[in-house]
Amino acid sequence: MTTKITPRLEVDLGALRANYRVLCHQSQGGVGAVVKADAYGLGLTPVVDALWDAGCRTFFVAFTREGVLVRKSCPEAEVYVLAPSVEADIKDLVQHRLKPCLYSLDSYHFMSQWCAQQQSVCPVSLHVDTGINRLGFTDQEFQQVVEQPSPDLTVDLLMSHLACADDPASSYNEKQKAKFLRFRSLMPDVKASLANSGGVFLDPSFHFDLVRPGLALFGCDPHYSRLASPRVRPVARLVSEVAQIKTAVRGEGVGYGTTVILEQDTRIGVVMGGYADGINRLLGESSGPYNFFVAGSRAPLLGRVSMDSCTLDLSDQSLSKVSLGDVVEFFGPNLPIEDLAKHVGTIPYEVLTQVGQRVARCYVSDAR
Ligand SMILES: *Cc1c(COP(=O)(O)O)cnc(C)c1O
Repeated sequence: MTTKITPRLEVDLGALRANYRVLCHQSQGGVGAVVKADAYGLGLTPVVDALWDAGCRTFFVAFTREGVLVRKSCPEAEVYVLAPSVEADIKDLVQHRLKPCLYSLDSYHFMSQWCAQQQSVCPVSLHVDTGINRLGFTDQEFQQVVEQPSPDLTVDLLMSHLACADDPASSYNEKQKAKFLRFRSLMPDVKASLANSGGVFLDPSFHFDLVRPGLALFGCDPHYSRLASPRVRPVARLVSEVAQIKTAVRGEGVGYGTTVILEQDTRIGVVMGGYADGINRLLGESSGPYNFFVAGSRAPLLGRVSMDSCTLDLSDQSLSKVSLGDVVEFFGPNLPIEDLAKHVGTIPYEVLTQVGQRVARCYVSDAR
């Protein structure tokens, strides 16, 4: 029997394209896809290509080198770099026609001087801070740009970022929007962008000219199931196969530290896929057992998660048919990433971006 037993991440590009269309429908403005961190771990190039096919023409990445990769796939796309090292990256930015989201007077002046020397006018975005206190111009700094605009830069996007968009009940959202409106009144003719995924599902007054979803494109509910109906569907599925089945004897332990001592003879399944693959070790440490999905049922994780493998308790009657080579789903359509994240005290963003580098990404693309 030739069973494959290595974990892999299945990425449903059909669902990705469908989610892009859901977000376009939901948004009053345009949709720019945030594909930083290797498209949230799903693989930058296939994701960008699929989104381009679906009609997406604007992309955001965190770093310049990510922007260079997007440019390779999409010669015509508009590519913004959210956190450029403007001085170090200037040549790549210009050569690959990447638009830096400038966030300080230093970066603004540097870019302006560079463009003046080259006798070219460069398009840039200005990132203003409306209260998250990460990157972004302060009010005073922005005021200076408004009073002394550089003739060598064209500002084509005014953007800011919400701190609490995942919580529709937070009053901080309105506060940030009000502040953003004040910034915008100083540059009324420039396109504006405020909303990430969570912001798209707040009311339309948060949408402005362009929204910047990441997580929702990749199939997670940005409000963590507080939405009345899930409007996006899962894109990623982390799977492996049952590599070995055995009966472990009463009184023996399972896994490192033998944190579980068997009270009876127990049918167990060993599955290749461990914390090096993105299966959080805390899943095996929590008080309530966590279940993975196998052969149509849920099987409890038994003992600790190792680097390369974990162990399932197959003793329940409902699991008696589980056999060697059956597919085990760690997260996916049957096991929401949101639930797994919650179980270990983190967020879907971290679960997705922690899927190990060695895990093969497999792309399925049903025409939907
Ligand atoms: C990561 C990021 C986004 C996308 O956020 P999601 O919550 O994944 O939609 C948008 N804008 C900025 C500035 C970001 O850093």
